[in-house]
Amino acid sequence: MTDLHDETGTAVVIVGGGILGAVTAWELAYARVPCILLESMRFGQESTGKSAAIVRMHYSNPQVVRMALRSRQAFNDIPELLGVDPVYNRTGWIFLVDEHDRENAITNRAMQTAEGSHSVEVPLDELGEYLPGLSLDGITYALFEEDSGSADPSATTAAYVSAARRLGAYAYEHARVTEILVEGGAVKGVRVKGQVIACETVVLAAGGWSPALARTAGVDLPIRLTREQDVVFHTGAEAPPPMSVSAQVDRTYMRPLIEEGSSLLLVGRGFPKPYDYVTTDDCNWDLDQVFIDDVRTRLTERFPALRELRLRDGRVGLYSVTPDWHPLLGPVNEVEGLHLATGGSGHCFKLGPAIGAMVAGTILGTPVDYADIRDFRLGRFAAGETFQSTYGGNRA
Ligand SMILES: Cc1cc2nc3c(=O)[nH]c(=O)nc-3n(C[C@H](O)[C@H](O)[C@H](O)COP(=O)(O)OP(=O)(O)OC[C@H]3O[C@@H](n4cnc5c(N)ncnc54)[C@H](O)[C@@H]3O)c2cc1C
Repeated sequence: MTDLHDETGTAVVIVGGGILGAVTAWELAYARVPCILLESMRFGQESTGKSAAIVRMHYSNPQVVRMALRSRQAFNDIPELLGVDPVYNRTGWIFLVDEHDRENAITNRAMQTAEGSHSVEVPLDELGEYLPGLSLDGITYALFEEDSGSADPSATTAAYVSAARRLGAYAYEHARVTEILVEGGAVKGVRVKGQVIACETVVLAAGGWSPALARTAGVDLPIRLTREQDVVFHTGAEAPPPMSVSAQVDRTYMRPLIEEGSSLLLVGRGFPKPYDYVTTDDCNWDLDQVFIDDVRTRLTERFPALRELRLRDGRVGLYSVTPDWHPLLGPVNEVEGLHLATGGSGHCFKLGPAIGAMVAGTILGTPVDYADIRDFRLGRFAAGETFQSTYGGNRA
């Protein structure tokens, strides 16, 4: 980190430069609020950069569907909005469901349609037109969202950070915040590299590192960390599936890694699956051979033509998981001036633009109209007002 600019007059400090911190910074800068984004490592390289970054609208709760819709629109609009090359891959997203979850998927789809999400049910005998070479074994239902797909998570985050800077925000990498300073129940600033930046508002968006930082302000966050792996294969002479796929039937998800090459496929494991609970200090950041073999088997049983898969590499990242797998957003009652944008669990890349606008809107006193941030408050667990999801676990 170079010396910090004289930050006298900073109104808001945002801690953490993943997708949630970056969008929040941009939203505040756009509203001409003096703000500073502090990132301990590099922008968008932790959970965000390791994200599969699949974008889908198929959620269980109406307001989360609206958040996904709002975010997808933002991903689409990024070139115009932020003045950069496109980051969004509108490949479509397909959901392959077994008999167990067939009715759930049908009911969910009806709710999403009512919320304005367009999808079509795909007759099983037409699935091969969407996914050439697909084995139909075990699939009893499929739906397709033509406007969904994936985004380049690092490029998206970088675009928000650059645009925030152009609007006057300060943004620093290698700037680890070690303490949130609180006096008399209110935020007074943050400590970074021994220096104090005074401010009255802090947005905590430090992903898996948020619980430790929150504790410095006397706040406990109900977040557990799971270690998550995605594998990247070369598909050889065979083209990868041309769209994002959530194969609930196989407990896998995948997408063509378009931003990195033409015959690359990223694959991970979906819910239900065993969870590997870790801390930021004891996480093993290397891929497991057992995991690679497992996803390879699941994938080639579903797409027998992909026999020539060659491992390229993969990513190991953290899910910051809350008890109901929905994020923690907005002000913390116990500490005036402390706002949360964390607990992204397994799906908050795709909700990032909506979340940033919600968090910033609360600080600005201009709440968004598509979701109520109070439903995502930290206190919802004590109040017994948690989100429920149709499928459970990370399929929120
Ligand atoms: C393998 C994997 C696959 C995923 N797939 C999908 C998907 O397909 N679709 C989807 O929508 N979501 C997906 N997710 C989830 C999604 O990536 C996360 O919910 C989202 O990226 C969380 O963003 P964040 O900004 O909260 O966290 P992060 O990206 O982790 O950002 C937090 C930042 O805070 C920084 N930081 C930490 N401590 C400090 C400190 N003391 N001071 C300053 N900065 C600090 C970190 O370095 C980090 O850059 C996936 C996640 C993983 C790991």
